[in-house]
Amino acid sequence: MRFPHDTHTHTVYSDGSGSVVDNIAAAEEKGLKLVAITDHVHYLEPKNLNSYISEIKRWAGESEVFVLAGVEANIMPGGSDVPDWMAKKLDFVIASVHEWVERPEEYLELVKSALLDDNVDVIGHFGASFPYIGFPGAEELEEILELAEERGKAFEISSRYNVPDVDFVRKCIKRGIKLTFASDAHSPRSVGNVGWSESVFLKAGGKKEDLLFEEFL
Ligand SMILES: [Zn+2]
Ligand SMILES: [Zn+2]
Repeated sequence: MRFPHDTHTHTVYSDGSGSVVDNIAAAEEKGLKLVAITDHVHYLEPKNLNSYISEIKRWAGESEVFVLAGVEANIMPGGSDVPDWMAKKLDFVIASVHEWVERPEEYLELVKSALLDDNVDVIGHFGASFPYIGFPGAEELEEILELAEERGKAFEISSRYNVPDVDFVRKCIKRGIKLTFASDAHSPRSVGNVGWSESVFLKAGGKKEDLLFEEFL
């Protein structure tokens, strides 16, 4: 891989099956330069957030792979569910739509609220629900891109859900919206499964400077 990194993995701190060190070891084996641990926010409380971060930092100190401590927040009406005190302690925050909505317009409204949320850095698996609820029109997508550009937010290219598509990624690149590669691994063996992400990124004409974490790659 040209840009071997994975910014979205889960551990036993939420619904993943491996430990923090298992995911980092898997990242080393796959030759990644950067891996992020991004467990679901609603599993983390003040008490275990501290052990979460210190465990990540401890193993990061022993690894040749750059390791980031993040979370995956849920996008709720009005923004993400990551509290300020939590966001402050983390390297970055992904926000994803997990709740069921009926129409693409509702989905986009949720994403807009996350784009307006200061605690959010990256939108997770954007459009994963579109095959079930319908695809938004080009103009509506343009509004999302405009807001993301204005607010300096990034999108992940998810190899788990195969989203967003190459056209959307191309438009991100054109506007200077940063991108990341994401396996969304829930087990160590899936860490680093980001081949789809890179192939879409390269097809869209992506270069190193288009990646959010280029300084680690
Ligand atoms: Zn998710
Ligand atoms: Zn996830």
